[in-house]
Amino acid sequence: MNVHLKVQSHHLERGAYLYIRQSSMRQVVENVESARRQYALRGRAVALGWRDEQIIVIDNDQGESGASAVWREGFQRLVSDVGMGHAGIVMGLEVSRLARNNADWQRLLEICALADTLILDEDGVYDPASFNDRLLLGLKGTMSEAELHVIKARLRGGILNKVRRGEFRCLLPTGLVYDHSGNVALDPDMQVRETIVHFFETFSRVGSASQTVKVFRNEGLLFPSRLHNSETVFRPLTASTAVRALSNPRYAGAYTYGRRQFRRTIDGKKTLRARDIDDWPACMPDAHPGYISWERHQENLKILKANGRGFEAARASIPREGPALLQGRAVCGQCGNHLRVRYAARRGRQEAWYICNRDHIYRGEPMCQSIAGPPVDEAIGMLIAEQMTPAAVELALDVRKEIQARHEEADRLRCRAIERAQTEADLAQRRFMLVDPNNRLVADTLEGEWNEKLRILANAREERERGREHDQFILDKAVHERLVAMTADFNELWKDPDTPSRERKRLLAHIIEDVTLLKLPAEGTTKLHVRFKGGKIQTLTTMNPKSSAQQIKTKPNIVELIDKLLDDYIYPEIAEILNEQGHRPGGTARRGCHDARFTPLKVAYLIHEYKLQSRYDRLRQRGMLTRQEAAVHLNISEQTVARWAKYGLIARHAYNGHYSLYEIPDGDLPQKQCSRWNQLQDRAAARQQTQTEPRTSTGEERGVV
Ligand SMILES: [Zn+2]
Repeated sequence: MNVHLKVQSHHLERGAYLYIRQSSMRQVVENVESARRQYALRGRAVALGWRDEQIIVIDNDQGESGASAVWREGFQRLVSDVGMGHAGIVMGLEVSRLARNNADWQRLLEICALADTLILDEDGVYDPASFNDRLLLGLKGTMSEAELHVIKARLRGGILNKVRRGEFRCLLPTGLVYDHSGNVALDPDMQVRETIVHFFETFSRVGSASQTVKVFRNEGLLFPSRLHNSETVFRPLTASTAVRALSNPRYAGAYTYGRRQFRRTIDGKKTLRARDIDDWPACMPDAHPGYISWERHQENLKILKANGRGFEAARASIPREGPALLQGRAVCGQCGNHLRVRYAARRGRQEAWYICNRDHIYRGEPMCQSIAGPPVDEAIGMLIAEQMTPAAVELALDVRKEIQARHEEADRLRCRAIERAQTEADLAQRRFMLVDPNNRLVADTLEGEWNEKLRILANAREERERGREHDQFILDKAVHERLVAMTADFNELWKDPDTPSRERKRLLAHIIEDVTLLKLPAEGTTKLHVRFKGGKIQTLTTMNPKSSAQQIKTKPNIVELIDKLLDDYIYPEIAEILNEQGHRPGGTARRGCHDARFTPLKVAYLIHEYKLQSRYDRLRQRGMLTRQEAAVHLNISEQTVARWAKYGLIARHAYNGHYSLYEIPDGDLPQKQCSRWNQLQDRAAARQQTQTEPRTSTGEERGVV
């Protein structure tokens, strides 16, 4: 069919859309010939009768792949313009330029057919409304999609083959380079190498990425980082760099490919998702030299994972500053979660508690367990001290060696920094010397550069001096002495309040895997199942500390004593006797109450609380009468009873500070009498005499008989 027959006047009234695209930015830059051909289609449109100003060029999809239309703005615009009937013809170099995806392509065809829009490529003009053309275009679309797939499969297959042999070259992390024969080798730069070795050693020692970052900062060390132009710069270590380096298997000498998977999201954004190690296309341990072993790398990954799991899952956290010895190593004996540590100030002291409250916090369930730290820590401390003395000497020596080695390593790294700065300063100096002195502009710049390098050199030297002094001080003064003490006596170091809790816990970590705590409230004890590193298990039992109420409870022997004293004394007398005998009430255990004494009120309270028989009841049981009863019994008035008691004719026993009960003698009752010549006090004295005399005489008589 003649091309000109397809192009009708109503097509010419509408615009001609020229769609230009290159798949990648590299093609945009390098494949200019193709772009020129695409722009040349413009001439074809003019030849077909479109005016120049009617031609609309859509080229804002440059650098985007044709595999989907979703994220291609230009294609979206093209489709919408066609749909609105603005387009008389759509032009593309090949059909594949328009869409590599058959669904997108068919939709465009459909819309073009409805809107009566023509399609033009290098081969000719098509009318999507005509069945033949539509069939051809559909075929072309399918071919185009298939072509893309074949190209991809071929390229990818080649890459994957190389990957399987471990020959595909990927970007290497800082510290590894390709040598001239294309093999992976350690970076020839000594400073880079030593810093990375130091980095992995530090992580092994402190057990966390962020702690490693802190150590680097405190030691004033920088971490190498390779820029895109393969220049290496030294920068402060960050946590993300540390984690990235720790999780990169290439440092362990393993060739890996496809650790992450590239995906497009529904809105066209690119995302990377980590794959499981089993899904990696290639993973070959010991493929090239590395900084750590493959086993060490796996161990590091495990540590990172455990550190990052946070609150929800059970975890063994790294030693921190707090005094609770079993932080991160205590397991709940009830539910198996790791116990958390809480610190609280009680009676002026900071005390640790091991608590299990995850279910309590998340699901409102009752608190699982809460165990006081001090008895547990004490028991563990004693266990460590008694069990580990010979091993501890070894350990202490190791620690000492390690600290020395660490300081030497840090110093060596600082020396490398100085060497590097020196080299760069020399270079700058040479450049400055070589420049023509008349060329002031260049000379000034080079001089500035030289000065800058000299300043960096001076800084590096200063840094080294400062670091060395600091290390020297630590090693010489505190650490040295303490380590000597440690080798001599592990116990001393363990109990030394100056030993940081963190170090103590690190020592503990060498010995103990974990401890399962189970509180038995009924027995007032806690069971400690200690699991040692070697797998040995030992069970300890500690007493639970008394509650506040229990601590201020009066001792049982004092209550017994009060019970006994009640037979003969009233409250104020009892209080006085207790105080004289040196007894103190239970409340003295309270802060600021250590000099409290027994008072009548306190005695009364104890008698009430312990339900001791009252003194009144005791006296009544012994047959004592009230004043009224005594008056009736003796047939005298109450006043006379009181007077007789006062002068000792009858016995009187106080049951509190004000009232008494009266003891009536069995026989020989005093006679009621009133006489001026025989007064009451004389009778009482006479009676006293007669009462004592016969009693002794009867005793003598009995002795004779
Ligand atoms: Zn629990």
